[in-house]
Amino acid sequence: MPGFELFDEHEKQQVAEVMEKGFTFRYNFDGLRNGVWKAREMEQMIQRDLPVKHAHLVSSGTSALTVAMAAAGIGAGDEVIVPPFTFVASVEAIVLAGAIPVFAEIDETLCLSPEGIEAAITPRTKGVNFVHMCGSGGYMDKVRAVCDKHNIILMEDACQATGATYQGRALGTWGQVGTFSFDSVKTVSCGEGGAVITDDTAIYDAAHQYSDHGHDHIGSDRGAETHPIMGANYRISEMNAAVGVAQWQKLPRILEIQRRNKKALKSAMAQYAEVSFRDIADEANENAGFLSFMLPTEVRTREVLAGLQAAGIPAVFYWYGNNWHYLKNWHHIQQMKGPAKLPIELIADRPDYSQVKTPKSDAIMSRTLSMLINLSWTDADIQKRLDAFANVFKK
Ligand SMILES: *Cc1c(COP(=O)(O)O)cnc(C)c1O
Repeated sequence: MPGFELFDEHEKQQVAEVMEKGFTFRYNFDGLRNGVWKAREMEQMIQRDLPVKHAHLVSSGTSALTVAMAAAGIGAGDEVIVPPFTFVASVEAIVLAGAIPVFAEIDETLCLSPEGIEAAITPRTKGVNFVHMCGSGGYMDKVRAVCDKHNIILMEDACQATGATYQGRALGTWGQVGTFSFDSVKTVSCGEGGAVITDDTAIYDAAHQYSDHGHDHIGSDRGAETHPIMGANYRISEMNAAVGVAQWQKLPRILEIQRRNKKALKSAMAQYAEVSFRDIADEANENAGFLSFMLPTEVRTREVLAGLQAAGIPAVFYWYGNNWHYLKNWHHIQQMKGPAKLPIELIADRPDYSQVKTPKSDAIMSRTLSMLINLSWTDADIQKRLDAFANVFKK
């Protein structure tokens, strides 16, 4: 997954251009910046390459989720369906918007299932935050159909799936609004950064305004701008955007290497009868940042994890057992614990998050391991993994 593995002169030159010729702020200062507009440049590349009508860069993937939700009209008291297998930001953004997260079941795509979404819908449901975990999504035509049928907003957290497509259409563009993360370990890195993507001009306008104190971004005099709405500051800096300009151009190469490395591991693993694989909706066109696979039981999964670790294979993740990506071990979410009183505490009939059960998701995640796919692997690095598989898996 990590684009930082390909950092070289290109990123350095882009940042140097901002420091030597341009300016650090992404808007205005036309007289200081000598025509250097890195955030705009990266936005235009994203729009052209996905394609999508509008891309708006912000300071992180978490900011992108927050901005996307507000811009799509999701706010206080609205229910938003989320998966229990996700990065915690996709839940935090809902809570901080004053909305109510509703956990629904995933299937073997490791994403929300259309049936899981449908079962979680209530009269208060405003949207779904559909998370494309570990490089690929679900059957997005079916997911979109369920959302349209119930007239709810489909928001896509594509933070881990940059560059992936399904039926030729980019993940992140199947719903009304999508988000990317360009943090330090993502497929494309800005150091820190993120993007809101949408074909809906009203959502785009609300997004760029909300991310910059409501500024309308019309004209070249910031002091003369009007403020159609209130907002906050989720802006990206030109230095971060400059890193992204170089990284985005490497995306085809990143995806090509990931897909090749993943294929080498997966085809070797396929010979072991006890191993099954994640259901991938469009395998040739996924991001391939991870190889996710299942064992028959939780006990066997823990044994295989220990075996791979003992063989010195790094970055094998058992999400069900660690504290990173699964609701089961998120005690702060189960207790809805913030530093101060949260908006959700004002809602009398909110769910009791300590009692949320997702048994179908548990049954899948307790048997799932994910192996990070690196860009820098040599043939020897791959061979080391194949040798470990031969020792750890049953024929
Ligand atoms: C990384 C990530 C985020 C948040 O992105 P940041 O840029 O780190 O704030 C949100 N959702 C998912 C699924 C992620 O992997």
